[in-house]
Amino acid sequence: MDFEQLLNNLRVLNGIMETTWVVRLCTPCGRAYGKSSRSKDIRCLHCNHSENEIISRHNKPEDAQKAVTLHNTPPEIRDELQQWMDKSAELDFRPSRTRNVDGERVLSLAADNEGIVTLESVQMVLDQMRSKITSENFLDAANAAGELLFIEPGVWRLL
Ligand SMILES: [Zn+2]
Repeated sequence: MDFEQLLNNLRVLNGIMETTWVVRLCTPCGRAYGKSSRSKDIRCLHCNHSENEIISRHNKPEDAQKAVTLHNTPPEIRDELQQWMDKSAELDFRPSRTRNVDGERVLSLAADNEGIVTLESVQMVLDQMRSKITSENFLDAANAAGELLFIEPGVWRLL
């Protein structure tokens, strides 16, 4: 086993023991997105570039998702959104809890036969549910929760 492989195995082991959720700021497009620290793919969900800076790290995916949503919200409505998120409308991927928006359900409704979801299909489902969440914020959150595989800009596959 060469040194590089050893290092990789250690990284995998660390990832299993402790997953952190990394919020990155894309340099070309200026948007934030979340990735698991285990994810090898650090490309932006919005423009597919890989130049970025890490802006925060979180132990819980829902904290990463909040940081992403807040970052991608214009400053003038950020406070309002923060209050709204704190109150009732968290996206939630844990199946045991029921909240306003059940992330798993949205994804399963938005996916086609091959498990492909797009910005548009998710937006249609969110609109049907009369959710105020945008499909972009929703997909950021789903991605931060490790639910999606990036295919190309605007297109993901369910994991
Ligand atoms: Zn970008």
